[in-house]
Amino acid sequence: MTADMDTAHQPNRTKMTVSETDVAIEITNMNKWYGDFHVLRDIDLKVMRGERIVIAGPSGSGKSTLIRCVNRLEEHQQGDIIVDGIELTNDIKRIDEVRREVGMVFQHFNLFPHLTILQNLTLAPIWVRGTPKAEAEEQAMKYLERVKIPEQAAKFPGQLSGGQQQRVAIARSLCMNPKIMLFDEPTSALDPEMIKEVLEVMVQLAEDGMTMICVTHEMGFARQVANRVIFMDQGQIIEQNEPEAFFSNPQHERTKLFLSQIL
Ligand code: ADP
Ligand code: MG
Repeated sequence: MTADMDTAHQPNRTKMTVSETDVAIEITNMNKWYGDFHVLRDIDLKVMRGERIVIAGPSGSGKSTLIRCVNRLEEHQQGDIIVDGIELTNDIKRIDEVRREVGMVFQHFNLFPHLTILQNLTLAPIWVRGTPKAEAEEQAMKYLERVKIPEQAAKFPGQLSGGQQQRVAIARSLCMNPKIMLFDEPTSALDPEMIKEVLEVMVQLAEDGMTMICVTHEMGFARQVANRVIFMDQGQIIEQNEPEAFFSNPQHERTKLFLSQIL
């Protein structure tokens, strides 16, 4: 009887295992404090492979802290975060593993000013991954072409526009072949005419099937590529929905107020 039941359950279990590998990120009942300040409250978030999540919300609501927890630039104190099957704990080897899987692009591009664009792109592949220089350069040129600025390879960051620098920062992340990309307000430091060229690169990445979490207030981008928009306030996920429903029919008063201010 027991044996029969086990056998009967086997297909189910196999099926579950298969579907679990489709989960890119799973955050369960996660809480984080900065000292006494309770910055993230009871966060539950499951992101499937290939999903594109946009996170919006007022300044100080915990958006950056949340995505920084995903590659452990910040530590959480309660609950679970599992990234690509790896549970985030203090185990340094596993943190390195996660950081290899997860690329991150910040508001400020953080390029090395004294290195050329090509050197910025090949630094980590050569020194962290041990990729031979010629191969790293070939890869870098491929990604510079993808972000449409191969002709800038020999220049220094200071010689590029903000939009070009941000595209370099995206290409630099891609050189590490990440499975997941996190964007923290990648266009908010840019002049309006440069926002479009960065968003175009992000749209392309989304169309290529990258799993993405983007903190952004570019609601056109959210409508175009997001599977889900998540709204945060005061450290909590207040509501989430498909873009159309999120924008046309927000449920929570705080979401309505926020949307009325940015749209
Ligand atoms: P958002 O990205 O939504 O603007 P953040 O995640 O940057 O919000 O910040 C959430 C809250 O946590 C804010 O009140 C901010 O002041 C606070 N905070 C952020 N980083 C730190 C830190 N390193 N130490 C203490 N408080 C912080
Ligand atoms: Mg932020």
